[in-house]
Amino acid sequence: MDSFFDSLPIMESHYCRAKTQKKYLLPEWKTKQSLYKFYQDDRCKSRDVRPLSIATFYEAFDAKNLGLYFPRKDQCKKCSLFKVGNLSAEEYSEHQQKKEEARIEKDKDKNEGKIVFTVDMQAVVMTPKSKLSSL
Ligand SMILES: [Zn+2]
Repeated sequence: MDSFFDSLPIMESHYCRAKTQKKYLLPEWKTKQSLYKFYQDDRCKSRDVRPLSIATFYEAFDAKNLGLYFPRKDQCKKCSLFKVGNLSAEEYSEHQQKKEEARIEKDKDKNEGKIVFTVDMQAVVMTPKSKLSSL
């Protein structure tokens, strides 16, 4: 069972990392039920194994700390590029550093009682076939 979940393509949270340890699946599966169906059809039938019950499957899914819906704000072009090897380690490390600095600044403002408002200006919809040409 673990090997099935481990084989699924996941995206780790980027902007949400401080708040969540959840790992999000690519939005290929909109519901747990559709993931279960994929498990039955793709995994079990091809290996001629009897599938687990849907309840056991859901339990295992939750135990793995997986999530179905990938928050829109989690998409980051630079991180995605680094993942597929299209961004140098230097640029990535600089990017990570800037991100950390921004987070510290935001926390500082918050702690000073300022109202902090952040907006993600670009919604990138992630699909297994990315439309990001640079990938
Ligand atoms: Zn990033």
